[in-house]
Amino acid sequence: MPPESLRCKECKTEYPLDARYVCERCFGPLEVTYASRDRTDPAALRRRIQAGPHSIWRYADFLPLQAPPRGTLPAGWTPLLRAERLAERLGIGELYVKNDAANPTHSFKDRVVAVALARARELGYQTIACASTGNLANAVAAHAAAAGLESYVFIPADLEEQKVLATGVYGTNLIAVNGTYDDVNRLCTEVSAERDWAFVNINVRPYYAEGSKTLAFETIEQLGFELPDRVVCPIASGSLFTKIARGVEEWLEVGLVSGELPTFNGAQAAGCSPVATAFEAGTALCRPVKPDTIAKSLAIGDPADGPYALELARRTGGSIDSVSDEQIRDGIRLLAETTGIFTETAGGVTVAVLAKLAERGEIDPSERVVAFVTGEGLKTLDCARGTFERTEIEPTLESFEEATDSLALTS
Ligand SMILES: *Cc1c(COP(=O)(O)O)cnc(C)c1O
Ligand SMILES: [Zn+2]
Repeated sequence: MPPESLRCKECKTEYPLDARYVCERCFGPLEVTYASRDRTDPAALRRRIQAGPHSIWRYADFLPLQAPPRGTLPAGWTPLLRAERLAERLGIGELYVKNDAANPTHSFKDRVVAVALARARELGYQTIACASTGNLANAVAAHAAAAGLESYVFIPADLEEQKVLATGVYGTNLIAVNGTYDDVNRLCTEVSAERDWAFVNINVRPYYAEGSKTLAFETIEQLGFELPDRVVCPIASGSLFTKIARGVEEWLEVGLVSGELPTFNGAQAAGCSPVATAFEAGTALCRPVKPDTIAKSLAIGDPADGPYALELARRTGGSIDSVSDEQIRDGIRLLAETTGIFTETAGGVTVAVLAKLAERGEIDPSERVVAFVTGEGLKTLDCARGTFERTEIEPTLESFEEATDSLALTS
């Protein structure tokens, strides 16, 4: 099932599989198409997947590459955990958490970067780059280091220090821009016209976006080749959200799984919620906003795939909701206390929206729900500050007894 062309999502004009991302006729976004999969035997396909490596490359048949690359950082194959205590707290029947913090640079961005970088190398690029809200910078810097390529990462100057440090360490060219992510993205679009670089989320974005499908494939495989009834997933540009659905659709088409597309619930922070706002207003387009939220990894004020995310949520009977910074902090705590998973703010957004849906009575107890936790708590440590108490004592048994007595009194 080799990749066949790039095709405009709007007017369907086709283009060769090179580094381009926008339709010359209508300025619509381009996406990868594949040769027909009609005559594939699902049982054989399934065996081939199961015999593959424990990484996203086991799904190479569904990725836009000539051949899976070798010797890369192994992205993917992250745990899907049954979250029984969280389910109980929220009154949900069957709940799973897909913990994509368990990737090489601790976010789902390793999947998209691995695919974009592999395709960039096939196209002959020596330098890769990105406009990032943080996690993408991490992933580009690391994967470029692993591949021995030069990299340039552009970030908003006010990014969390943990993300800056975890990126600079890989020896990338780290460019902090005084502006929002949307300013960074605009600048990078200009730079990409001047330099012969592969910007993973600009000129090779159609390939990058395909990497997100692997989250759907893995989840389905980990559920024993069955589908969830509902997914809850964070939205920044809307690429991940829509590509999870695309992954499900591709596996339905080839018969690797049967059933219906799950209900899609998108999650945004209230301080940057252009898609949730458009959902609520019933409009097809998003109005750009200036982000102001602790969920910096989701702080895209002008989301490229916003209209497609809206369409998906509506088509599947889902929704796109937003939650306050306070609810995000509570979401982080709730997940940590009930599952042992410490997620960054984006995961807090997902869990808070999950809680909101449960509270609204929107989740039937018979449903199987998957919540996508896309990043690691150690990268947004400041958000945990002040959310718990600690007990300080002298190094004596007496002091300890005294402290535990008063703890017992207060708890
Ligand atoms: C980038 C990112 C997302 C979602 O990104 P999209 O642009 O919507 O694909 C979600 N969670 C985390 C932690 C991210 O870094
Ligand atoms: Zn077009």
